[in-house]
Amino acid sequence: RLVSPEPEDDNEDSIEKSLRPQTLAQYIGQDPIKHELHVYIQAAKQREESLDHVLLYGPPGLGKTTLAMVIANEMAVHIRTTSGPAIEKPGDLVALLNELQPGDILFIDEIHRLPKIVEEMLYSAMEDFYIDIVVGQGPTAHPVHFPLPPFTLIGATTRAGLLSAPLRDRFGIVEHMAYYQTQDLQEIVERSADIFNTTIATEGAHEVALRSRGTPRIANRLLKRIRDFAEVSPDHSTIDRAIVDHALTLLRVDSAGLDPTDIKLLRTMIDYYDGGPVGLNTLAANIGEETETVAAMYEPYLLQRGYLKRTARGRVVTAAGYEHLGLAMPPQNNA
Ligand code: ADP
Repeated sequence: RLVSPEPEDDNEDSIEKSLRPQTLAQYIGQDPIKHELHVYIQAAKQREESLDHVLLYGPPGLGKTTLAMVIANEMAVHIRTTSGPAIEKPGDLVALLNELQPGDILFIDEIHRLPKIVEEMLYSAMEDFYIDIVVGQGPTAHPVHFPLPPFTLIGATTRAGLLSAPLRDRFGIVEHMAYYQTQDLQEIVERSADIFNTTIATEGAHEVALRSRGTPRIANRLLKRIRDFAEVSPDHSTIDRAIVDHALTLLRVDSAGLDPTDIKLLRTMIDYYDGGPVGLNTLAANIGEETETVAAMYEPYLLQRGYLKRTARGRVVTAAGYEHLGLAMPPQNNA
């Protein structure tokens, strides 16, 4: 899916790496978070201490991994990156922690998916920089107290609500990543175009920004596809607004970044349920998707855009949703 906020494949991963900003100054948008982090980083450096543990939460593709790398760069320390599901047993965590130098960063993506037993080991590691492990088996088993260098854990999650309270409470710095403003996305698109060695007109970059669902990963992906269209067009010197519009219309990404499934979802609610309320399960069955997929992939952006709202009795299409589809909302739905 072109407008999915998740990475498509390894190839996209390597392109993303080349687009990653290295410093806080290069990191576009998220100003309140940047200002706070700048202060904490300076203070930690002055005290020659490791930075407090950081939790970054928010939807996929907004730059959590990128920000963790920027923090490591600003602190001038190494970063080890892993993910919750990759740390299967306590030994895996011990191996990771064992490699850290004083001040280093351990980045755990999808930290809400850590096995419970591993999570519990993290408590003492984060709080007092030690772990207690049991070595050996049966009668020879004995506990070993394992001191750790001071380090910084940066956790990232799309589901902060799934984090246990003891884990959440051990993060001194907790930052919520918000969807990007159009202006910031436009800047990201212009910067990426520069790195791709292509020129994009201001209105072209603005149009990509409007259709990128507030998400840098999607903006970069659309830009990459539009560049292909520009290169094969007769006058391909600059990506202008017309090329963006032409390419995204063919790719079926509409003026608000909705794709055919988003539209189908809204239309189904309007055509068969008078705009709602409709339960999520019914809706998913009607459009031939899993309930979980609708909840995780389709609904969040439609809610954020204000095209859909949740009520106690189910999902409802809003006046803005009707308007986006060029339809008038029936007066009784306004009650
Ligand atoms: P997440 O970890 O939240 O899923 P990533 O950090 O992998 O997101 O970001 C996806 C891509 O979006 C990055 O490779 C980077 O190119 C781009 N990106 C994210 N945030 C920014 C930003 N603030 N400025 C510039 N590019 C960004």
